[in-house]
Amino acid sequence: MPMLHGCAFSGCSTFTLSTYCVEHELLVRALKESERAQGASLVDHPEDAPLSAETASEAQEPAAL
Ligand SMILES: [Zn+2]
Repeated sequence: MPMLHGCAFSGCSTFTLSTYCVEHELLVRALKESERAQGASLVDHPEDAPLSAETASEAQEPAAL
């Protein structure tokens, strides 16, 4: 007989066979999807990447002078 245990989501006491109950399994999956979408948006907006490069060159300027 498979072991039922409480949902891993804090505050949720629904018993489930997997890590989360069905409700929170979907919620966690949606959160992961949005995290992945945020990571992909960084690729879509390359202006976020040169920001650190600009800061680095600005920091080097006084040393070059
Ligand atoms: Zn739950």
